[in-house]
Amino acid sequence: MGDLASKGIIVTGATRGIGRAIALEAARRGANVAFNYLQSEARAAALKEEIEGLGVRAMAFRADVGDLKAAREMVNAVKREFGAIDGLVNNAGLTRDKLLVMMTEEDWAEVLRVNLTGAFNFARAAAFMMMKAKRGAILNVTSISGLIGMAGQVNYSAAKAGLIGMTKAMAKELGRMGVRVNALALGFIETDMTAALPEENRQAALAMIPLGRFGTVADVAPTAAYLLSDAASYITGAVIQIDGGLAM
Ligand code: NAP
Repeated sequence: MGDLASKGIIVTGATRGIGRAIALEAARRGANVAFNYLQSEARAAALKEEIEGLGVRAMAFRADVGDLKAAREMVNAVKREFGAIDGLVNNAGLTRDKLLVMMTEEDWAEVLRVNLTGAFNFARAAAFMMMKAKRGAILNVTSISGLIGMAGQVNYSAAKAGLIGMTKAMAKELGRMGVRVNALALGFIETDMTAALPEENRQAALAMIPLGRFGTVADVAPTAAYLLSDAASYITGAVIQIDGGLAM
C-alpha cells in the first residue's frame, strides 16, 4: 500500500500547516495516524475524517504537548489501538516574536515549553516502547532560526537550537536500540505561522532565499515521510535543511 504501510505514526500539532501535511502524507503511504492539537476541534474532526477516507485508521487528541501526563496518556492509547508506535513527529510549535528588550518571561517560557519541552515529553513517552520493539523513528521539526539565529526570535532560536542538540543526543542514545532520530530544519514555509509576518519582513526574507520563493507544505511532507520510512534506515542524527538554500 505504500512505504509506511501499517505503521503507527504520531504527529503532534497536526490540525494546521506542516503537521497536517505530514499526517496526510503518512496516511497516503499507508500509515495509521494519530495526532493532537490545542484548540482546533473542528479542524481535528475534519482531518480525522480525511485520513480515514484514505483507508487507514486515525485518532485525534486534544492534548497540550507541554503536558507530560497528557503525552503519556496519548501515547499509551495509540499503542493500544495501533499495536505499535513506529514513528513520532514532534511538530507542534509556536512563535512569540519580540526584540529581546521587549520579551517577557512568559514569551520566553511559553516558546521553550511548547517547542522544546513538548518534543521532550513525547519522545520521553514513546521512546521506551520503541526501544522494546527495537524499531522506531523520531523526527523533530526545527528551524533554520535554531541554526543561524534570527533577530526578534531569541526565544524561538533557543528552543529550535535546543531541539537540534536533543536530536543528536537522542540519536546517540537510541541508535543501538534500533531507534533513529532526525530533524528537519525548515526555512520559510507558507502556513498560518508565516502569514502572521509583516509584509516588510516577508520581502526581506524573500530576498535572502536563493530559490527565490517561500516553501510550501508540499516541499516538506515527502521528506518527513521518507525519514519515517525504512528507506531511511541508515539515517540518524541528521539535520536536513528544507529552506530554499537560505541558511547555507
Ligand atoms: P502552524 O500553522 O501555526 O500550526 C501549529 C500547529 O501546532 C497547530 O496544529 C496547533 O494546534 C499546534 N499546536 C500549537 N501549540 C500546541 C500545543 N501546546 N499543544 C499541541 N498542539 C499545539 O505552524 P506551522 O507553520 O505548521 O509549524 C509547524 C512546525 O514547523 C513548528 O514546530 C514550527 O516551529 C516549525 N517551523 C515552521 C516554519 C514555517 O515557516 N512555517 C519554519 C520553520 C519551522 P491548534 O490548531 O489547535 O492551535
